Amino acid sequence: MAHRPDATALQQRLTRATEAAAAAGVDALFVTPGADLRYLTGYEALPLERLTCLVLPARGEPVLVVPRLEHAAAEASGAGDVVKIATHEETDDAFALAAGLASDALGGAVALVGVADRMWAEHVLRFRAALPQAQQTTAGQVLRPLRVIKQADEIDGLRRAGAAIDRVHDRMAEWLRPGRTEAAIARDIADAIVAEGHATVNFTIVASGPNGASPHHHTSDRVVEAGDSVVVDIGGTMPDGYCSDCTRTYVAGGSPDPEFARYYDVLLAAQKASCAAVRPGVTAASVDAAARDVITDGGYGEYFVHRTGHGIGLEEHEEPWIVAGNDTILAPGMAFSIEPGIYLPGRHGARIEDIVVVTEDGVERLDTGSRELQVL
Ligand code: ZN
Ligand code: ZN
Ligand code: ZN
Repeated sequence: MAHRPDATALQQRLTRATEAAAAAGVDALFVTPGADLRYLTGYEALPLERLTCLVLPARGEPVLVVPRLEHAAAEASGAGDVVKIATHEETDDAFALAAGLASDALGGAVALVGVADRMWAEHVLRFRAALPQAQQTTAGQVLRPLRVIKQADEIDGLRRAGAAIDRVHDRMAEWLRPGRTEAAIARDIADAIVAEGHATVNFTIVASGPNGASPHHHTSDRVVEAGDSVVVDIGGTMPDGYCSDCTRTYVAGGSPDPEFARYYDVLLAAQKASCAAVRPGVTAASVDAAARDVITDGGYGEYFVHRTGHGIGLEEHEEPWIVAGNDTILAPGMAFSIEPGIYLPGRHGARIEDIVVVTEDGVERLDTGSRELQVL
């Protein structure tokens, strides 16, 4: 919470969002706590039943509506440097206040409003009641095109997040060894995620032996055995809000099943091919296909059961989705994971994941730790 983003960068985002709302014919955006609010104001607000909401009209000045008791926190975030803050008391109708701010800025009727994609349904319905004549749409259709292209300061944030999670993977030998449970290993990893610079731990997947065949395995009390392959997929959020997400698959003390070693090489080649396919002008689907073709040619196509990747930024999972059928054209500043996996049910699995960012002429990997099979 101590991190205060650069006011100039926030001002530019607010201006672009206002212009984008006007261009889309959306009269006002109502942005409640979440990544969109943090993106626009720097304020990491608590999602509460009391209304906190940025009112961003297509013409005029944005105003942040906050409950009286959150006013100090909103000011401390630096949001007050870039938007006006309006407080409401316990007995006020905060939704009427926010709706009135939008109508005042527009100087008349509000016909179409964009509500934050993650706004609570009860708040959406209160806004509908406060503006009965207005149609509602998602704020995401206005904000997503802005957030999907990371600016230089955001890429720096993702780069720092990548370096921090790489340092955790570099220390894996301290914790991952036969005789320990997945849960004990995961607790040590969680401590290290914070120690290496993250503000919060978002997830610690430690999937050993047959558990590795479940991509989103819930870390259990299974004891790691010698020769087990272990999928370790970990991530956190840095103090500036940007997320890390990196997977390595290790072998714990001993030699792995020969088939595991065989398909690990296929997976490594697939991950490399997929990263190499990233550049401006190609589709998201083509990056998925680059990984999938290598795995299919290697004979394991039916065991690669998920998309190749997801966008990342202020959220762990955001657009663009790196998936078959997604014709989104990649552009400089897009950041996403490349994380193909091979999962043999009941036996074992492997995944290799890096975050990459599209550059002017290619790709930059933000996770740079070794991808070779490491026996710990
Ligand atoms: Zn995932
Ligand atoms: Zn991951
Ligand atoms: Zn991921």
